[in-house]
Amino acid sequence: MATRHHNFAAGPSALPLPVLERIRADLPEYDGTGMAVLELNHRGREFMALAARAEARLRRVMDVPDDYAVLFLHGPARLQFSAVPLNLLGDAPSADYVEAGLWSEMAITEARRLIPVNVVASSKARRYTTFPRREDWKLDPRAAFVHYTPNETIGGLEVHEEPDTGDVPLVVDMSSNILSRPVDVRRYGAIYAGAQKNAGIPGLVLVVVRRDLLGRASPTIPRMLDWTHAVEESSLANTAPTFAWYVADLMLEWLEAEGGVAEMEARNARKAKSLYDVIDGSNFYANPVDPVYRSRMNIPFTLAEPALEPTFLAEARDHGLVGLQGHRYVGGMRASLYNAITESEVDALADFMRDFARRRA
Ligand SMILES: *Cc1c(COP(=O)(O)O)cnc(C)c1O
Repeated sequence: MATRHHNFAAGPSALPLPVLERIRADLPEYDGTGMAVLELNHRGREFMALAARAEARLRRVMDVPDDYAVLFLHGPARLQFSAVPLNLLGDAPSADYVEAGLWSEMAITEARRLIPVNVVASSKARRYTTFPRREDWKLDPRAAFVHYTPNETIGGLEVHEEPDTGDVPLVVDMSSNILSRPVDVRRYGAIYAGAQKNAGIPGLVLVVVRRDLLGRASPTIPRMLDWTHAVEESSLANTAPTFAWYVADLMLEWLEAEGGVAEMEARNARKAKSLYDVIDGSNFYANPVDPVYRSRMNIPFTLAEPALEPTFLAEARDHGLVGLQGHRYVGGMRASLYNAITESEVDALADFMRDFARRRA
């Protein structure tokens, strides 16, 4: 294989080399089926076996209880911004949303097109550099659910403790930190996540939903957004994103072989620490996020001299370090350290950053 870059992109993002090699080996003929996965019928026996295996793996890895349904759905993660309110409002007057970054803001904008929404706490006035404290959320006990984004991919914020919302179900967009650490699924009404960060490639969305929350969808919900329909159809109501589903299965297999989410959490904590240490240990780099809420997955940082950004990116690329351009909303740089990024890749980035700062200081 030609030399691969160290890819710190926010998504689509790096895949583990063993997974890529497995994909190559499985092409053009997959596991005795006489076809590539790319060609398999989504309702055929072989694909259904793959789908069942992937679900079983996700249930094992995340310790999903039986009273939760697991869905592998098509489409962008942000389609769930519409699916969540249409599936879950039921007879409730409204839903509560916490705003702490551009992703939760987008979820709110979409929900508002469909249902009454209360923004119960926001850190927008602080340019999303912190997360609203749980004691400041003005929750409505009649709300259908409380929605928040536990890892704000753009701002680089992460909630490290699951907040308690009593009887109101918590619904979370875990797109950028699912599988990066253990979570107690029982604390959530629903979890959804695009696969393209820690679970593979774009085109697939994972949904884990407590079964007692099914069956309350709006009568006018588009069928393709209806979770109850998806459960009845085993996520195969439409021509499924078979390749992304297959890659998710391989990602879960790799994750289990590596030691599961507890091991990922330990590695991710070490990876993030080594980068934050470089940032905090210099006068050259800065990260604007409240230290309590710093993300382990997405680390934005700025240079003391913004004019040096193109030089930083060009020299980084010469070292094989790519995907570091920050999001236009926050500017600067961003390193995404998803599960597939190894500790030695983070060391390479940290060494480069230290050296760059030394040469420019
Ligand atoms: C990447 C991301 C998404 C968007 O995924 P799409 O599949 O492009 O819609 C949604 N939410 C969060 C938190 C993300 O990081």
